[in-house]
Amino acid sequence: MRNIVAGNWKSNKLMGEAREWMDEMAEWLASHEGVEVMVGAPAPYLSVLANVAPEGLQVLAQNVSAEGHGAHTGEFTADMLKSCGVAGAIVGHSERRARYGDTDDRVKAKVRALVGEGLQAVFCCGETLEEREAGHQEQVVHRQLKAAVLDLDEDALNRVVVAYEPVWAIGTGKTATSAQAQEMHGAIRGWLADRFGDEKAADVAILYGGSCKPSNAAELFGKADINGGLIGGAALNPVDFQGVLAGHPDLKR
Ligand code: PEP
Repeated sequence: MRNIVAGNWKSNKLMGEAREWMDEMAEWLASHEGVEVMVGAPAPYLSVLANVAPEGLQVLAQNVSAEGHGAHTGEFTADMLKSCGVAGAIVGHSERRARYGDTDDRVKAKVRALVGEGLQAVFCCGETLEEREAGHQEQVVHRQLKAAVLDLDEDALNRVVVAYEPVWAIGTGKTATSAQAQEMHGAIRGWLADRFGDEKAADVAILYGGSCKPSNAAELFGKADINGGLIGGAALNPVDFQGVLAGHPDLKR
């Protein structure tokens, strides 16, 4: 079982601020263990941050190309990330699905590109408010999962982390209740178990994302199928991020 708390800075921080965050996390990580810590940083900083990241902190990109090398201006590939010491990437985030053309097919190609290079794919899925109000949340997430992970072999699945992020809870201050989140995490685990077997499904980390903060992290992370979180706003300040980490039942000092 993997326990993971991953930050997602999105398009925030300048280089100096990113380095300061790393320094503060390095100090904290020296006396804490039990949870894998990751951070999704802006692309220009990846190579530097991956080289200065303390032990116990993996640096992620927030995107990766669905194509290989070639005439794809502005894109960067999974093997480029690997060559810089980057651990993987967040893919399928709802902001990219809604605004930057990340269809299920493109997300599938990105997941494959990452796991094919032995990198981590933090795969995001989740329903919009409209979809939830129509009662279609499980259907939506199962469709997204089917597109992205159905064809993976077991070895590749080991490098996939699923982040359930209800779109209506991202950056809105409106968190899913722990019962709502557990219900969806249970449905995701069940879907994985049907395709890959109970044992493999139990090994996949399923993170909750959506206005998770120090005050609600323990309640969310205490649920059976919630293995940690993908954290946006509360990952910008290391003290808040550490507060979220402190809510994980497996964190040890
Ligand atoms: C996110 O964007 O992945 C996220 C979870 O954001 P926030 O924590 O700010 O809701």
